[in-house]
Amino acid sequence: MKTERTILFLVLLLLGLSLGHCARAWDSEELFNDWGAREKLGLPRDFESTHTRFTKWALRHVTQPEEMLREMRQHEREILDGGNTEAHGLPLNAAAEKKIRREYGIDLADVIARHLEKEEEPDAPADWWADSLGAYSAGDVKMAYYYLGVLLHMIQDIGLPSRANAAFHSRRMSDLDNFEYMAMFNWKIAEPWKPLRDDVNKADPDYSSPASYYSFNYKWTLEDAPSYDNGRMPLTWDKADEPTKDLLFHRQARTAHANLWALESALRGFREIRKH
Ligand SMILES: [Zn+2]
Repeated sequence: MKTERTILFLVLLLLGLSLGHCARAWDSEELFNDWGAREKLGLPRDFESTHTRFTKWALRHVTQPEEMLREMRQHEREILDGGNTEAHGLPLNAAAEKKIRREYGIDLADVIARHLEKEEEPDAPADWWADSLGAYSAGDVKMAYYYLGVLLHMIQDIGLPSRANAAFHSRRMSDLDNFEYMAMFNWKIAEPWKPLRDDVNKADPDYSSPASYYSFNYKWTLEDAPSYDNGRMPLTWDKADEPTKDLLFHRQARTAHANLWALESALRGFREIRKH
């Protein structure tokens, strides 16, 4: 499609001009809002980032634990905010940092610095979950759901072939990932959800910690794309061959499920705290 290619070109241009906030990630609200990209690119106002889509998908499909759903529904905004927070390390996007300070009263850079002191892995899934549980135990339910959203974001990102394979370490424009752009305009998960073929080839392992779904999805991604080569990835859907289309579809559907299962695991964790 010609329009799709034009938009992609503009996105690439914008990303290139906006140094340092991209690569190895699904697109998030940071890209659209803080960069004003919706307007600049002429995208519809209701165009949703891939992170928003994953998070909303989990919120729509969560079914248990039933007694926690009412509370969770009251905190969907916080889960979505966390789901759109790019907290993979430092430096942060200044506008996003400011927004989080204003809305949640925390210094995101301090939180990340604390995580980095403890762990080598900048995504720090176990730390985000510990922060979420800590907030919940202290009665700060709003904060707990925000931190949970950040954890969901990490589980979403590790579902990307480029990220799981650590194919890119540089943030130069020339290293941006075609798969991620193609995904931006091609959300291929059936709504309402209908299983197709072998799309979700694993069952929920029912982990007691939602953070465990990070390494779970990491391994799943490597199984799907063991020798991922971005150089062979087309930029648009109409240029993609069948295996590439399957990979995109599988990574979306499987990541969506790992994310949903993590959310349900987190709600079980919150329920345990409420019991005591
Ligand atoms: Zn990210």
